[in-house]
Amino acid sequence: MKPRIYLSSPHMSGEEMAYVQEAFDSNWIAPLGSNVNALEQDICRFTGSRYALALSSGTAAIHLALIVAGVQKDDIVLCQSLTFAASANPILYLGAIPVFIDSEPVTWNMCPDALETAIKHYLHSGKKPKAVILVHLYGMPGFLKEIILICEKYDIALIEDAAEALGSAYFNQKLGTFGSLGILSFNGNKIITTSGGGALLCQCQEYLTKAGFLASQAKDDAPHYEHSEIGYNYRLSNVLAGIGRGQMKVLPDRIQKRRSNFDFYKKNLAQLPGVTFQEEPNGSFSNRWLTVILFDPEVSSVRPEHVSKILTQNNIETRPLWKPMHLQPLFRQASYFGGNVAENLFMRGLCLPSGSGLSEDELLRITDHIRSVF
Ligand SMILES: *Cc1c(COP(=O)(O)O)cnc(C)c1O
Repeated sequence: MKPRIYLSSPHMSGEEMAYVQEAFDSNWIAPLGSNVNALEQDICRFTGSRYALALSSGTAAIHLALIVAGVQKDDIVLCQSLTFAASANPILYLGAIPVFIDSEPVTWNMCPDALETAIKHYLHSGKKPKAVILVHLYGMPGFLKEIILICEKYDIALIEDAAEALGSAYFNQKLGTFGSLGILSFNGNKIITTSGGGALLCQCQEYLTKAGFLASQAKDDAPHYEHSEIGYNYRLSNVLAGIGRGQMKVLPDRIQKRRSNFDFYKKNLAQLPGVTFQEEPNGSFSNRWLTVILFDPEVSSVRPEHVSKILTQNNIETRPLWKPMHLQPLFRQASYFGGNVAENLFMRGLCLPSGSGLSEDELLRITDHIRSVF
């Protein structure tokens, strides 16, 4: 059996250990320290965000973003349905009400029309939604211009879940910096990793201060420990931030390599009947975190399951698209606005191995097996 090919493996630069050693040498083995500060600066420099707060996960960042945006128990939060559960779980942490929105077929992200329909519906019933969570799936920017206009028109906070989209851009501005709040993830499978970690991006000092306060146990200003709000232990370890600093150095290379994986797949698979890709609209730049292919059942009898089966037999990992949240047992009771775009994408798509460590031989191995199914 040939060695296993994973969907998206960690890919170290070799510079991480020096920063990790710094943490040990200075004995800052803590959820704060010079690596944390430097990583936050690196993130700001790279994304153009005014502020960044390094946190223990992307999920923690979403949780804090919702609190900072003012979301409380029984508030409505409008969230893209086609996403990973981590986008939506923090809505439940707060006892708020998730309402799911369908995707549009171009970028596969939140459909602006369905979003506006949902907002109007809740305004009519006298319950203005508190926040919108837009996800940039697989690195692809959503319809930001349209969604920002809607959020501004109705004065609703926009939270960008850019967990998969570090380095992606929309008309030359990096994702995560458009909304009033944005989040990144450094989980092990993302484009760069701290093994586990994330960041909150925000453009106003007040949000940064509030999120930083909540992330470190909400300690009031007093000589003893005084608390008047619920706090969380959400800061990133200074040891792990060292890994992040080493990873930030090679982020542009990682983006380039993931984009070249996409180009390779497209060149070698686009001629197969019914196979299509997630395309970049004008002005959009995707980091191509994962390459996803769609199969058209009206053109060919090949289904994603047939391809994943052959690849699994050959020790190659694949994954279906995210199963939409409105179809998940956990969110059975949640309302949903839209049609069947997200569901269709889920039925027709397959995520291919997309790590930045993939060799040309491995890519050829994958595409040869896929071609053999047709
Ligand atoms: C990975 C991911 C998250 C969560 O990030 P963690 O760092 O794993 O908590 C949130 N949203 C999306 C879309 C993700 O892919």
